[in-house]
Amino acid sequence: MTNFITRDIEKKFVKKECENIWTKNCPRCNKLLSFSTKYNLQRSIDSGSLCQGCWNQLMPRIGKRQKTITEEDLKRMCPICKNEVIHTTKWVRDDAIRKNKVCKHCKPIIYPPTKERIEKQRKK
Ligand SMILES: [Zn+2]
Ligand SMILES: [Zn+2]
Repeated sequence: MTNFITRDIEKKFVKKECENIWTKNCPRCNKLLSFSTKYNLQRSIDSGSLCQGCWNQLMPRIGKRQKTITEEDLKRMCPICKNEVIHTTKWVRDDAIRKNKVCKHCKPIIYPPTKERIEKQRKK
């Protein structure tokens, strides 16, 4: 057993000279992990970092962080007409809230098409 541990530690510091890559074994599943610099390798050893697969197993919450988006998450109220607006994605919805965007019906009320704007569009 002692022999095995010693060998394992030695293996962790092996540098593949030809590939210029630093490697260590995942302390959990023993998978070979490679690092581009010795600094990265040393940091990984010091913090006892595991491979990506082991992290996913140990912390399944990370993988499940993207919770299912309900219709509630896509809805918002137009600040002008108070009508419900349903967006295609949550990101668009959040962006619209941040910028206090109005619905497409209210847009012409707030931004009436000016002559200049109409001309600009014609030029396009
Ligand atoms: Zn692992
Ligand atoms: Zn509106």
